[in-house]
Amino acid sequence: MTDPIAFNIAKVRQRIAEAAKKSGRNTESVQLMAVSKTRSAEMIEKAAQEGVTDFGENYLQEALDKQQQLQELQLIWHFIGPIQSNKTRPIAEHFDWVHSVDRLKIAQRLNEQRPDEMPALNVCIQVNISDESSKSGAELSELESLADAASQLPRLILRGLMTIPKATNDPVQQKAAFSKLREAATKLQQKHRTIDTLSMGMSNDLETAVAEGATIVRIGTDIFGPRS
Ligand SMILES: *Cc1c(COP(=O)(O)O)cnc(C)c1O
Repeated sequence: MTDPIAFNIAKVRQRIAEAAKKSGRNTESVQLMAVSKTRSAEMIEKAAQEGVTDFGENYLQEALDKQQQLQELQLIWHFIGPIQSNKTRPIAEHFDWVHSVDRLKIAQRLNEQRPDEMPALNVCIQVNISDESSKSGAELSELESLADAASQLPRLILRGLMTIPKATNDPVQQKAAFSKLREAATKLQQKHRTIDTLSMGMSNDLETAVAEGATIVRIGTDIFGPRS
């Protein structure tokens, strides 16, 4: 019998391919990130066996433990959770990407703490697009000055924007949020040429995100099953 994780990954890849085709995009222009928070190292290994290279983690200690167990594998690690400023050092030392930079202080600390022997850290600014009740993410009004300042930091590469829109199954609202993020990124791109990433789309809205230009989708539940 096919392993459920392998089956789910095939299904998610199919969904990405269909959504890309529908909007005239190459499937290869959409990177799949498996969101592995709360999942075991064994489950990550299963996904890696299916060719998944990119993993997203929200909780620092849990992520460091799994990275330790999986150090033989060549995986790309993305930090996607809220960041406390006293936790930036291990993030700077152990991740390839950070998607949840939401204020300058965090960007500055990651820049100072990124080890010299590692390549510059890829960062996305998290934007609070539609969820007024959520405190995570920079406001659109502060985005430009944050991007200007972050792009000056030599140990970071400003790659783009990330958002977690207010949870809804209404495709119209999903689309509105994602297209706002795309427009904001397009505007910033004129000044900041390193921007090539739109990190948006999760299990229940990946099709809409791909249609609106997502270049990285972050999928947890539809790969590993419901979280307990
Ligand atoms: C948990 C999480 C995801 C994955 O969500 P699913 O609905 O399980 O696919 C994506 N992005 C972030 C930032 C998350 O915290």
